[in-house]
Amino acid sequence: MKIIMLGAPGAGKGTQAKMIADKYHVPHISTGDIFRANIKNGTELGMEAKKYMDQGLLVPDELTVKILLDRVAKDDCQNGYVLDGFPRTIPQAQVLDKALEEIDDKIDFAINVDVPDENIIKRMGGRRACLSCGATYHVEHIPPKKEGICDACGKELVLRDDDKPETVGNRLDVYHKQTQPLIDFYSAKGILKTVDGTADMKDVFAAIVSILG
Ligand code: ADP
Ligand code: ADP
Ligand code: ZN
Repeated sequence: MKIIMLGAPGAGKGTQAKMIADKYHVPHISTGDIFRANIKNGTELGMEAKKYMDQGLLVPDELTVKILLDRVAKDDCQNGYVLDGFPRTIPQAQVLDKALEEIDDKIDFAINVDVPDENIIKRMGGRRACLSCGATYHVEHIPPKKEGICDACGKELVLRDDDKPETVGNRLDVYHKQTQPLIDFYSAKGILKTVDGTADMKDVFAAIVSILG
């Protein structure tokens, strides 16, 4: 099963993608996590990506597509995957489609996690991320067991630089201009499914499971 998660930054794509990955035994692939891991390790790719990420801009398609295609070519992707944060532009979606066509394959579902901008702005300030294992929490809605510490790996949680209010506005603009057109793109292919992302995390997941079967 090959799934794409669509939605604004902070809509809950990552939270749901991790639950989907667990239930359906497919890898969770987040381009944002891949970039952050590269930044943490000080790689060249990380340095390049950081320039854009810090401003709330998208990393150029060329760079992003390459890391994604390398990742989905790995053995653990044979039975599918859940893509979180890719594609984010129409050209990215077209490259993915073409790569899949070449192996007689296709995306099964594009799940659009729908959350209005007002809710997003409130949510982002409360997001806390573990840069070590990629887990995310929310200070009010989804708190860790011990404040400031990752339940999964025990490392310290942080407010991501790009989750600061001055950057969130930019990221929402970028989303509306560059990523939202993907909703029509996948709708035209007949694989778009929209869920109400303002609901409780468990209810959002139940809605997704009823779509995926
Ligand atoms: P969020 O989960 O809040 O939407 P992500 O972790 O998915 O954030 O992405 C963080 C940043 O990484 C983005 O703002 C962007 O700069 C970069 N990024 C991630 N995925 C892509 C992509 N597919 N294309 C371009 N840039 C990306
Ligand atoms: P995205 O990957 O789309 O950027 P995340 O999954 O990281 O979004 O979620 C953004 C923030 O909102 C996180 O702090 C997360 O814990 C919180 N969150 C996720 N789903 C919900 C929900 N259904 N209700 C309230 N908060 C949520
Ligand atoms: Zn962790």
